[in-house]
Amino acid sequence: MIIMKFGGTSVQNAEAIRRVIGIVRGRMAEKPLVVVSALSKVTRQLCSIAEAAQGRREDEFRELLSALRKRHCDLAAELLPEGSALLQDCLGRIGQLCDELEDFVYGVFRIAELSPRSYARIVSTGELLSSVIVSAAMNAAGLSCHWADARRMMVTDCNYMSAAPDLEATEANVRREYPALSKGASVVLTQGFIASSVEGFPSVLGFEGSDYSAAIFGMALNASRVEIWTDVDGIRTADPRIVSDTGRIARLSYDEAAEMASLGARVLHPLTIGPARKRGIPVVVLNSSNPEGQGSEVSFSGEGAGPKSIALNEEVEFLRITSPKTGGAAAMLADVYQVLASEGLKSGPETVSESSLNIVLEVGKTASDNAVRRLREKYEVQVSTDRALVSVVGRDVASSHEVLSALLRKSAPVYMLSASPSMLSVSVVVDKAGAKSIVAALHREYFG
Ligand code: ASP
Ligand code: MG
Repeated sequence: MIIMKFGGTSVQNAEAIRRVIGIVRGRMAEKPLVVVSALSKVTRQLCSIAEAAQGRREDEFRELLSALRKRHCDLAAELLPEGSALLQDCLGRIGQLCDELEDFVYGVFRIAELSPRSYARIVSTGELLSSVIVSAAMNAAGLSCHWADARRMMVTDCNYMSAAPDLEATEANVRREYPALSKGASVVLTQGFIASSVEGFPSVLGFEGSDYSAAIFGMALNASRVEIWTDVDGIRTADPRIVSDTGRIARLSYDEAAEMASLGARVLHPLTIGPARKRGIPVVVLNSSNPEGQGSEVSFSGEGAGPKSIALNEEVEFLRITSPKTGGAAAMLADVYQVLASEGLKSGPETVSESSLNIVLEVGKTASDNAVRRLREKYEVQVSTDRALVSVVGRDVASSHEVLSALLRKSAPVYMLSASPSMLSVSVVVDKAGAKSIVAALHREYFG
C-alpha cells in the first residue's frame, strides 16, 4: 500500500480536487491511504477566528466563520451531483462541524481566553471539513472511499498546538483500526495535522504538520512509498520564489532532506523524515498540477557528494552570548541550552569558544525575549534581528574546498560560519538585507 498526502493548494478548489481524484484513480492498484490538509489558507483563517474571539472582536470572527462555512458548502455543491444523497449528507456534516465550531468559538469569546487546548480544537476543524468534502467527491466519482478520523489513531502529548506524537501508541492504533477501515474500500481517506492528546482532546502537530502525519501513517502501515503532493515539481535546488532557474533534485538522501528542512528550506516538515527512515520507506515529492512530472525521491541512496540545494532562513535571531567569567564553555552551554529548552525554542547552527557562544535561534517572539532576559541575568547577550542564515546542503559539502571558497567569496560580511558535524551542510550568518542576492549568486556558482 502507499500513502498519498495532498497539501492545501492541491485541494484548494473544485478543479484541484478533481485533479486529485484523477491522480488517486491512477494509483488504485496500490491501495492508497490518502491524507489531506485543510483547504488552502483555512488553517490561517481559523487562527484569525480564534484570536478575534479571544480579543472580543465579535463582528470579525462571525464574518470569518460565515465565509468559512460558505466556502465549504459551495465547494461541496460544485463537486457533488445536485439533489444527490451524497450532497445532502456532505452538507449535513459540514453544517454540523461549522455549528460545533461556532459554539466553541462563542465560548472563547465569552470567556475571552484562549488556551492552547482550545486553540487546537478550533484549528483542527479545517482538516475535518476538507476531508469530508474530498471523501464525498471521491465517492461521487466512483472510487468507494472510506473516511477515517485521524484523531482516533494519532495520539500525542498535551503540547496542543505543536504536539509530539506517541509513535508507538499511534502505530498500535493504526494497525488495529486500519483493517476495518480499509475493508471493502478502494481508498481510505484521513486527515493530516490533527490528532488527539493522551487526555482525549484534539491536538495538532504544528503548522505544516500533515507531511509528518503522512510519514507516521506510512511507518505504521509499512507503506511501500509515501507521496507528498504539493504545488512545485519536487524538491528544488533553491526556493523558486528567490531564484528563477532552480532545478529539480531527482534523488536525495534522508539525511540531506532532513538537513535542508531543519535549515529552513520549505520542502517537507522537518520531522517527516524520521518515521520514513525508520522503515526505509521512500518519500516522493510530486506536483499535483503536473502529475506527469517526476518529482524528487528521498531515500537511503542520495546521488553523490556536492551541493544539492541552497537554503535560506530569514526567520531567525542571531545571539552572541559572552561570559564575564572564565568558567569554561561547558557550564555556559549547559545554562544556555537549559534556558532555550525550557522556553521551547529551537536553535540552529552555533559556534562556541572558551567564553562566548554564537547561536542562531528560530524566531519565537515572546519566548526568545524571555530567554534573552533570563540569560542576561548571568551573561552578556547581543541580539541581532536583521540577520539571515544561508546554508549549502549536500553530502560532504562542508569538507569541499570549492564549496567553502565560493560560499565565502559570495557572502561578505559573514557574522558566523558553521559546518554541521555530519558535513552535510555549511552555513553562514549574513545581513538579512543582502541574503536573497547571496542565495542567487551561490545558486549561479554551484548550479549555473
Ligand atoms: N493545514 C495545516 C497548516 O496549514 C497543516 C498542513 O497543511 O500541513 O499548517
Ligand atoms: Mg506543506
